[in-house]
Amino acid sequence: MEIELLTPSKETTDIILEEGGDPLKSCFQCGLCTGVCPWNRVTTFSLRKLIHKAQLGMVDFEDEEVWRCVACNACVERCPRDVQMPILMRAIRRVIMEVGAGVVPHSLRISEKNISAVGNPLGEPPERRMDWAKDLDVKTFTKGTEILYFPCCYQAYDPPTRRAAIATVNILKKVKADFGIPDSSVVCCGESIRKAGAESLYRKLAETNIKIFNELGVKKILVTSPHCYHTFKDEYPEFGGNYEVIHLSQYLDQLIQEGKLKFTKPLVKKVTYHDSCCLGRYQRVYDENRRVLTSIPGIEFEEMRDNREYSLCCGGCAGRLWMETKKGERFSELRLEQVAEVGAEILAVSCPYCMANFNDAVLTTGKSEAVEIKDLAELVSEAL
Ligand code: SF4
Ligand code: SF4
Repeated sequence: MEIELLTPSKETTDIILEEGGDPLKSCFQCGLCTGVCPWNRVTTFSLRKLIHKAQLGMVDFEDEEVWRCVACNACVERCPRDVQMPILMRAIRRVIMEVGAGVVPHSLRISEKNISAVGNPLGEPPERRMDWAKDLDVKTFTKGTEILYFPCCYQAYDPPTRRAAIATVNILKKVKADFGIPDSSVVCCGESIRKAGAESLYRKLAETNIKIFNELGVKKILVTSPHCYHTFKDEYPEFGGNYEVIHLSQYLDQLIQEGKLKFTKPLVKKVTYHDSCCLGRYQRVYDENRRVLTSIPGIEFEEMRDNREYSLCCGGCAGRLWMETKKGERFSELRLEQVAEVGAEILAVSCPYCMANFNDAVLTTGKSEAVEIKDLAELVSEAL
């Protein structure tokens, strides 16, 4: 048996607290959270123990355990003391990223360097950020335009994920919305790299985008990523960015309720829906997506076993999308088993990270013939 030789250190606890680790003060070690953490479906991971180590200043900053949390918020739903685990994990990671203790996983370091150097995690040329729209006859946002449509980095550069941005433009044109897209000077929203602990980089990204948005007089931002949604709506106000932020699923639901979106082509498919953590547990957007899907003629909709607040994370939040996850430990592959259980031909998503993770999972599990991964925007656009 391996014995851990770690010494309690008040100094270590103080550093975690300085980096924002206040949630550790509220934990009374009941252990209820451990049972709901998705990592325990694939391995053994005691977050109660990890919190206890943080309370005692005994965190091993070189242990890969500190990089496991995907900030899915499932434990927060269960915790009787409302311990915000993702905030605590962010503080522990800041001690590594910002203060210099421990080791940053290599693949995460590459994404962080890409974001820092070129403003997107994929390392793509910034001047090509809006190439996805070059044949779509879309105007660049100017002062006085009503809606800024902001696609995330993956929807800008990653071909399968880009389909959601193209479909969104198609929908916006159909309803004759007054909208524009940003020019290539905008950068990653920074939501995930912040959760991964790179606070100073996050602040630079937020300042860059806020300066651009404010100079343009942006008031309303439409997003197709729940990560942009969360950070623009909940985090940018702290840095002087105050906007009305709307996720496409909410916008589509609103258009349908107002009778402004008419479907003309039935989509005869069995469809299920995956709740992203960031849109679901964080924002409680559960009904809108389902109302949109079930209003498309022809769709037979069925829920998976874990849905709404009990949804199983795809495994891509808080920087995990950029880290290696061993075969057998990928939540996205478990989720595809649930898709198969309900016999769905299409797994609908509302998040580019979910899209990227599930696109990989259908390949690694040999399910690419059996199930298609589609963004809500694509399904709506196809049925117009
Ligand atoms: S459920 Fe909350 S109080 Fe209980 S061990 Fe987990 S974090 Fe601590
Ligand atoms: S937020 Fe999710 S992944 Fe992180 S510790 Fe809680 S349940 Fe586990």
